Amino acid sequence: MTARAPSEILDTLEQAGYEAYYVGGCVRDRLLGRPVHDWDITTSAMPEVVLALFGHCVPTGIAHGTVTVLLEDTGAEVTTFRTDGSYHDGRHPDRVTFVRSLREDQARRDFTVNAMAMDRWGRIYDAFGGQADLDRRLLRAVGDPETRFREDALRMLRALRFSAQLDFTVESETLAAIGRCAGLARALSAERVRDELEKTLLSPRPETVAEMAGLGLLTAFGLTESRDLSALAVLPAKAAVRWAGLCRAYPSLDLEALRLPKRPAQDAMAAARIPYPGDRLGWKRLLSAEGETRGRIAAALAHQTETVEEILASGECLWLKDLAVTGADFPALRGPALGRRLHALLAYVLEHPEANIRETLLHIPLDSQGSPAVEFSANFANRS
Ligand code: ATP
Ligand code: MG
Repeated sequence: MTARAPSEILDTLEQAGYEAYYVGGCVRDRLLGRPVHDWDITTSAMPEVVLALFGHCVPTGIAHGTVTVLLEDTGAEVTTFRTDGSYHDGRHPDRVTFVRSLREDQARRDFTVNAMAMDRWGRIYDAFGGQADLDRRLLRAVGDPETRFREDALRMLRALRFSAQLDFTVESETLAAIGRCAGLARALSAERVRDELEKTLLSPRPETVAEMAGLGLLTAFGLTESRDLSALAVLPAKAAVRWAGLCRAYPSLDLEALRLPKRPAQDAMAAARIPYPGDRLGWKRLLSAEGETRGRIAAALAHQTETVEEILASGECLWLKDLAVTGADFPALRGPALGRRLHALLAYVLEHPEANIRETLLHIPLDSQGSPAVEFSANFANRS
């Protein structure tokens, strides 16, 4: 059958004689009254059964028991009850064992608030005290925290990431175990760490990244101490801006080592290093030299987005492509000399937008360096 809503997946599985529950983040977010952004379902049915029952599905992680059932506007991940072994590649458990009971499946989950299940009638299956921890706003490991962090060190970063997203506290024994196990985070793949950091940076408490650094979870990336990240929370919640803000506080951070795609990584790192100009002309020069992407990020960091958007909307010439003359207008000049002339004219036009007229630029008097003479006034453009 073709399911349209996640509840139909539960219905279909149950009618076929299997157990099926919502589990993990969707149950937690429902109980907290937060929007649910993805649906995880856990079931006693084996993956082949799930594949056979639903028309539109993808065997996304069949070896780990996961089938994605496509719904009208999203998908739901349907995973067979299982336990996990260790995560040696730091991404997937090496070996999973399918198990019979919901409770065993709940026991493999990271935190009590992520280990609750809900059936189609809304009944909650809370084997590890998740509801009490939701009420106390605590992130507590399921089982012995140290054992759980040794199985998968990412859970330490997840604890802090969820604390930032949900405004929860990491329970004291869980936090103490993070302190003891932090060194294990060195072995994690950069991609997994990047994903946790980005979610934290985009959360209402991005300064939690400093806490991760202070706990020793980010030493592999050169972040070895907590620093003041209080400026981040007031920045727009856009990944490029928040990453750049982090780079401002930790200038040695290499976003490419964190496996951000090359262009966004370089843009964020470059924008973080740009000194903020003091006036509109300074922002124009910055946009001209650094380009729109980096200019916008720098503006966000400096709380000058309005200034920069006004400049970009003004239609004033910022780049050679907008200059009223091109190389073809200077047939006597070649190579570097031509480049210098065009850039000199651009620099002039940045200061005097009204001079961006072909006739004006062709006849502009030059000083001995080939730049428009300083005494050349903007009014020239109006007179000519
Ligand atoms: P969100 O999707 O909002 O980030 P989530 O709780 O749904 O939060 P996911 O990463 O989507 O988190 O994982 C779904 C569920 O799978 C979790 O709620 C948790 O029960 C379990 N889980 C995910 N990753 C781990 C892990 N590394 N160790 C143990 N359990 C995990
Ligand atoms: Mg999820």
